[in-house]
Amino acid sequence: MNFLEEKILMDGTIKQGNLLKIDNFLNHQIDINIMRQIANEIKHRFQDVEVNKVLTIEASGIAIATMVGCLFDVPIVFAKKGESAIVSEDKYESLAYSFTHKKINYVFVSKPYLQATDKVLIVDDFLADGQASLALIDIVHQAGAQLSGIGIAVEKGWQKGGNILREMGVRLESIAIVEEMDWETQSIRFRNQPKCKLYRSC
Ligand code: 5GP
Repeated sequence: MNFLEEKILMDGTIKQGNLLKIDNFLNHQIDINIMRQIANEIKHRFQDVEVNKVLTIEASGIAIATMVGCLFDVPIVFAKKGESAIVSEDKYESLAYSFTHKKINYVFVSKPYLQATDKVLIVDDFLADGQASLALIDIVHQAGAQLSGIGIAVEKGWQKGGNILREMGVRLESIAIVEEMDWETQSIRFRNQPKCKLYRSC
């Protein structure tokens, strides 16, 4: 079991509606030691590709992206979210349905921050249905930039995002892949790992 899977077992909670809550180390309070390990692992997995920009989406992706960007020593850009599209010439824009907030977000990056010469590593905290990643890929393509890959902390493997991205030929690396989880028993199974109970709920 890797460090992130261990941490999820230790501090995670499974919520109704297929939500994994890891607020005390990633989504509300940030455990800098775990964050450092996540960033090191993403850097390691993409050490053979060229990266000159890290791209994420506000808000939870920013912390991971910042640490990954530090390791690559490149700028970090975060796409902003809005309620409705204000079409403008100076932005790359896309749409993403939010799994957690159950609404469509308008997502944008101002044009000066992404260029055709950029080799972009997308980074995010979770991958579920792939909406956030697909919107960011769309924005990378609009800029004429190159996608170097996608680095994710936690992939929910039974949701469709991972399959969609891998079938598109995207280089996707997820540090922990949750294969199944059950709210009633607070049990979780990671890809290639036995099923375990979350320690906190024991
Ligand atoms: P997707 O766009 O892949 O459907 O969902 C990914 C986004 O939704 C992530 O940026 C993350 O913020 C949020 N998300 C999806 N599933 C979960 C979850 O189980 N727990 C948390 N904390 N966030 C999630």
